[in-house]
Amino acid sequence: MSFEFGWFTAARRCESPHFNQRPFGEISLLVIHNISLPAGCFGLPYIDQLFQGCLDTNADNSFADLAGLKVSAHFLIRRDGECVQYVSCDDRAWHAGVSRYGERENCNDFSIGIELEGTDTEPYTAAQYQQLVELTQALLAQYSSLSAERIVGHCDIAPVRKTDPGPSFDWERYLTKLRDF
Ligand SMILES: [Zn+2]
Repeated sequence: MSFEFGWFTAARRCESPHFNQRPFGEISLLVIHNISLPAGCFGLPYIDQLFQGCLDTNADNSFADLAGLKVSAHFLIRRDGECVQYVSCDDRAWHAGVSRYGERENCNDFSIGIELEGTDTEPYTAAQYQQLVELTQALLAQYSSLSAERIVGHCDIAPVRKTDPGPSFDWERYLTKLRDF
């Protein structure tokens, strides 16, 4: 089994308090994001801390804006390919914010959020593409309402506010690898 109670067994588990129940129990959309803390810096512990609600906002000047922010994602894939999970897929993580997919708003209700450690401009690593494909495959196998056609970027569901995962994300490379897996 790849999942136990919505937890991916291959991921490092790092539980976030930032989640609640999915109102309809539905899981039918995958949302790809990027994040780095501080912006453009990789390999630091601050993303885990942010999602766990224990970020030391004095650690960097740029963190002042993040004080009191309650956000999370289901997954983070680090530059070295490590997969971290913060919220069970069965629960609703807080990654999409104000968002719309087709006619539907509040994408957190029915989506899974995957963060890639990165920026809009810096190419993602081969290890990240590999891990992302493996995770996506496991999710598609586990949740029957997900499909390769229902994978979007945060920029697609919140186009005025958000740009991630950015032009640095090679959608063709990802989707081709996914098909050929
Ligand atoms: Zn995002």
